[in-house]
Amino acid sequence: MIRDYHSEPAEYMSPKNDIVDVDDMTAPDPRARIQARLPEFAAIRRDIHRHPETAYEEFRTAEIVAHALRACEIEVVTGLAGTGVVGILRAGTSKRAIGLRADMDALDVVELNDFAHRSIHSGKMHGCGHDGHTAMLLAAAADLAEHRTFDGCVYFVFQPAEEGKGGAKRMIDEGTIRPVPDAGCVRYA
Ligand SMILES: [Zn+2]
Repeated sequence: MIRDYHSEPAEYMSPKNDIVDVDDMTAPDPRARIQARLPEFAAIRRDIHRHPETAYEEFRTAEIVAHALRACEIEVVTGLAGTGVVGILRAGTSKRAIGLRADMDALDVVELNDFAHRSIHSGKMHGCGHDGHTAMLLAAAADLAEHRTFDGCVYFVFQPAEEGKGGAKRMIDEGTIRPVPDAGCVRYA
């Protein structure tokens, strides 16, 4: 189903949103807020690190992502390009949009670390940091959802298969995301 949020009227925008001018220097620093929640997002990162999934097999990771987004009352679309997930968050009345992207797949690498959250899947490891990318984007999503300090729409794109398996191209080819010329970013369609 093709959904064009930008051609639809603004009643998507929740009237209870408290819009904050992002240029208002008296607004709370989002970095400080996220720092305060660091243990929560570090735990997600370590959980994903412990359970690495390679290209198009990111089923467990996608579940974690979808669950975390829904917990923030972010609209979630799953099963995109196989295991991809997109979160959709709106605030205010602007029709502007931006896409923030993370990748979720691990590598075919044997992990030699001995810390507690080392990979439990022999021959697979988050050796490229996609566990961190995923956790960081979830942190950004959580903060933006809680404070909604923007005017427009944010698409949180969690793509599968970044490591040479063309996950982003597949999301584009399937029409999940496409360039927005005037915004320099991506949108979910
Ligand atoms: Zn990578």
